[in-house]
Amino acid sequence: MNNSFSNLSRRSFITKSGFALSAAALGSPLPTDSIYASSDKRRGKLGIALVGLGGYATQMLMPGFAHTKRCRLTGLVTGTPEKKVRYGKKYDIPDTHIYDYETFDRIADNPDIDIVYVVLPNSMHAEYTIRAAKAGKHVICEKPMCLNVEEAEAMISACSENNVTLNIGYRCQYEPHNLEVIRLARKKPFGGARYVQSELGFIIGDPSQWRLRREYGGGALLDVGVYCMQAACYAIGEGPIAVYGQEFKTDPLKFGEVDETVAFQMEFPSGAISNSTTSFNLDAHRLYVNYQDADKRVEIQPNFNYGKYRGSIAGKPMELPFINQQANHMDVVAQSIMEGSETTTTGDVGLRDMKIIEAIFQSIAKGGVRVEIG
Ligand code: NAD
Repeated sequence: MNNSFSNLSRRSFITKSGFALSAAALGSPLPTDSIYASSDKRRGKLGIALVGLGGYATQMLMPGFAHTKRCRLTGLVTGTPEKKVRYGKKYDIPDTHIYDYETFDRIADNPDIDIVYVVLPNSMHAEYTIRAAKAGKHVICEKPMCLNVEEAEAMISACSENNVTLNIGYRCQYEPHNLEVIRLARKKPFGGARYVQSELGFIIGDPSQWRLRREYGGGALLDVGVYCMQAACYAIGEGPIAVYGQEFKTDPLKFGEVDETVAFQMEFPSGAISNSTTSFNLDAHRLYVNYQDADKRVEIQPNFNYGKYRGSIAGKPMELPFINQQANHMDVVAQSIMEGSETTTTGDVGLRDMKIIEAIFQSIAKGGVRVEIG
């Protein structure tokens, strides 16, 4: 990926990006009410507003901005007055750039906010993505994209109609070990991938949290199973044609509304297969890929986490740096917007994953039968 904003030609930027920053980034007069005008926009940084200041936004994304080169935190959306003060002060965000859920749509008038990053419970992703698109803002929406295919299609339409981009928070695609797996799928030095195992599970704490509630889009498959299907797809370099799913429940009280552990298998057009397990009640963080050269394998464990990854490739340790995935993700999205190019984590990829999830739930409901992806 070309990360050089300075190399961007004026013409391609104006014709491809189609958004308000273009003139500003190229040195044209800026809106007088833009408080970051003289610094960030002229240097090719996009402003991001975080919507929903919970655990991921405050503990991972906010600190991640210190490592970004292409973006800056310029807005906050929260329903909690105390968080407005605390995070406004900590990150130097003026009151004019802090919104609540009622005033959210006024973000349309803020020239310092180019991208709205939706970090709300899963059931709220569709509504806030669509509202952000209608406000004329590019969107990053956390994973899973939403609750179902219908919502995903509505989100894509809203972004397309408003000429803004939509990206999903698939941070692992911006992590060096997983990027190497993606490179192997593209370059095929060991032939194509034939078999993938991907596992992500952890033991969930607080029994009152939204991840255990159906109406909020809880459950292991929707919330963290997406990492497993994502990994299988990018390791193989294809989307699946059919799936099989099985559900296991050992604690029906805690997991009364949502799935606790789901295993699923996928068939791919090339003949490759994958086998995945995702859980809110088991610990697993692993990616294994075996190739046409059958003695060539990649194994990464732990994988999918925020910290250090450890992996081997064809029997040798993967000597790759630790980077801030959140920062790299936001930077690549900002860069793609500035260039008018596409990332590998667009809304279309999120839609594909929603189709896979629906098919796995259908398979589970029918006793584990094979379900083709439409
Ligand atoms: P969280 O519960 O810590 O935060 C959710 C935030 O939404 C809270 O600040 C809460 O106040 C706010 N909120 C607003 N309206 C709400 C309502 N009606 N009900 C409940 N909360 C409401 O959750 P989180 O862990 O920060 O997850 C937020 C999103 O980020 C989810 O979509 C989750 O899947 C995703 N996430 C992604 C990663 C990743 O690695 N990419 C990691 C964690 C979470």
